[in-house]
Amino acid sequence: MLDNIRIVLVNTHHPGNIGAAARAMKNMGLTRLYLVSPKDFPSFEASQRASSASDVLSQAVVVDKLADALQGCSFVCGTTARLRSVKWPQVDSRECGEMLHTESEQHEVALVFGRERSGLFNDELELCQTLVNIPTAEAYSSLNLGQAVQVLSYEILMASQQGKKAPVEDIKEEKDTLATNDQLEGMYNHYMDALIDLNFFGKRNPEHIMRKLRCLYGRARPTQREVQIIRGILSYAQGRRTQTPEK
Ligand code: SAH
Repeated sequence: MLDNIRIVLVNTHHPGNIGAAARAMKNMGLTRLYLVSPKDFPSFEASQRASSASDVLSQAVVVDKLADALQGCSFVCGTTARLRSVKWPQVDSRECGEMLHTESEQHEVALVFGRERSGLFNDELELCQTLVNIPTAEAYSSLNLGQAVQVLSYEILMASQQGKKAPVEDIKEEKDTLATNDQLEGMYNHYMDALIDLNFFGKRNPEHIMRKLRCLYGRARPTQREVQIIRGILSYAQGRRTQTPEK
């Protein structure tokens, strides 16, 4: 469902790219644009480049932090122009179109684009369950931001028109929906607090451990109920034993 798909641009420098992205989206049937701390918006240049997609621009949601743009999303894909050293699930643009199309039939999803110069930072990529790379010539892998939005929006439209679906296991029980990004972030913060309280880190590197946990839960895709249970266990380990025991 194209209405369930958010296109998120992080810290865009050139307003022309925001306009180009809006146009690319509208051409492909997408309308929900989120702008995280844009350098210059609203702007004449953005409107000019958007051409007849001014409605996408005027409905754009502007927020301060990436996490705010991802509130309520149960699947988030982050774009990257180069292979990262961080081990994270990674797909190409075609697979990404199929995944976003499939997932968007069940819940809200987001596709996140980075800054023109520096892309997405590692702490932003960590908010994504999967990374996507548009295949390019080896000599030059970095597309213009608006054109990257174009390619991926096209893949989403193609997948939706051809009914192409990514193979996803339906693991959740009835009435238990997948946890949203903000619920997962709440769980990771709780983990961090609990592991500090338990003196778990010692000589271990908290960043490394937390990244591994994100990777694990990113693969597992826990439901809302499962996140509640994990948080219940963390609270118990922290010694807050007064809460009602889970049945
Ligand atoms: N030097 C940056 C490139 C930024 S290009 C980097 O290495 O990440 C600006 C944005 O366009 C990227 O953050 C990404 O959102 C998108 N983009 C550009 N080329 C891409 C590619 N080959 N695959 C996926 N996204 C790409």
